[in-house]
Amino acid sequence: MNDHLIGGPALPQERRLVTAIPGPESARLHARKAAAVAAGVGTTLPVYTVAAGGGVIVDADGNSLIDLGSGIAVTTVGNSAPAVVDAVTEQLQAFTHTCFMVTPYDGYVRVAEKLNELTPGSHEKRTALFNSGAEAVENAVKIARAFTKRQAVVVFDHAYHGRTNLTMAMTAKNMPYKHGFGPFASEIYRAPLSYAFRDGGLSGEAAAFRAIDLIEKQVGAGNLAAVVIEPIQGEGGFIVPADGFLPLLVQWCHDNGVVFVADEVQTGFARTGELFACDHEAVVPDLIVTAKGIAGGLPLSAVTGRAEIMDAVNVGGLGGTYGGNPLACAAALAVIETIATEDLVGRARMIGKTMVERLHGFADPRIGDVRGRGAMVAVELVEPGTTNPDPDLTRAVAAAAHAQGVVVLTCGTYGNVLRFLPPLSMPDHLLFEAFDVLEQVFREN
Ligand SMILES: *Cc1c(COP(=O)(O)O)cnc(C)c1O
Repeated sequence: MNDHLIGGPALPQERRLVTAIPGPESARLHARKAAAVAAGVGTTLPVYTVAAGGGVIVDADGNSLIDLGSGIAVTTVGNSAPAVVDAVTEQLQAFTHTCFMVTPYDGYVRVAEKLNELTPGSHEKRTALFNSGAEAVENAVKIARAFTKRQAVVVFDHAYHGRTNLTMAMTAKNMPYKHGFGPFASEIYRAPLSYAFRDGGLSGEAAAFRAIDLIEKQVGAGNLAAVVIEPIQGEGGFIVPADGFLPLLVQWCHDNGVVFVADEVQTGFARTGELFACDHEAVVPDLIVTAKGIAGGLPLSAVTGRAEIMDAVNVGGLGGTYGGNPLACAAALAVIETIATEDLVGRARMIGKTMVERLHGFADPRIGDVRGRGAMVAVELVEPGTTNPDPDLTRAVAAAAHAQGVVVLTCGTYGNVLRFLPPLSMPDHLLFEAFDVLEQVFREN
């Protein structure tokens, strides 16, 4: 499979450290960054990329690092995947922009057709394209409000929906996402999630009734336009709600004329071992929001949903200068094709199985929970035998992995979750090597 996913000139699929991490050239670039780039734009690992593909990132010093982050779940098909490069190159030579709202083009329509076909549910659908996850989430809320003529929006504990004003209000965590940035948009209400590791193993049904009770008492279904939820939370800590939670919420939404919006920005496009995370429980959202993995790294996002809801907006009410840019659409069509031809859904399951087995094999009592679906796996680090978060250990393990040339990301409300999101173009030997490194790092920290 790798020939189809690792482009030419193919990068050697190896971990190779030739300097300290970060090396001198990266350090030099990072000093320029500090002088030129706003301090609020953070960096997980300050190695400066010069090439990436398959399962590696090559830096300015010639180090080759194993990528367990995919640029935050974006390069699912791999960096510079050959099919994406070819499709974008061809489009680049034809035209780069007209603005779809001025003179449209077929690529946008084809992406919409594909999303309408592939997203959960066989009902008639429509799609609108945007640039970022946050922008698409905002538009899903606009659409739900226009359709229902109601204003309130329910989101959940630990949720992450973006960094724009409305999506900051929808995001749970103060630091670093909201701190000092208020006032936030109104009519956003937060309900409790299903979080087995921290709610005493409450069943999905019980957790759903707890959320529904709060919504009915504190918001009132008649005021509620939409429930917006990540079917598996991303930044919040890869929290997989207990079985039954999502289906009951959807049912309640349908019974009450509330638009159920699945934010699949992080979980979509094969990441979880289904095309969409909703598919695991046959959940059919009214609107589904996608981005990250959709276009192999080109900026694109989408809202797809029931035709009658999507079409409730007046003409001109949706759009934007760049939404559905032709290059991004070409990339998305290549990504969708590649997911099918390379069976990346199956690949995500295999990668996930390996990761979960390896993590259990560490047998480290500080790993309180191993969770996720498909190639979206995380561990929650705690003081042994408790649920007390251990963010210091999490930071130390991530830093030690980085020093050994393995790119890992942290997340979680308590900063104590290590998450693993390898590109699905990752060869097996590199995946094993990355987890050998992690096992060693856990032993030494
Ligand atoms: C990343 C993310 C967003 C925001 O996407 P951006 O492209 O960064 O605006 C929204 N929702 C979820 C679930 C995400 O993971």
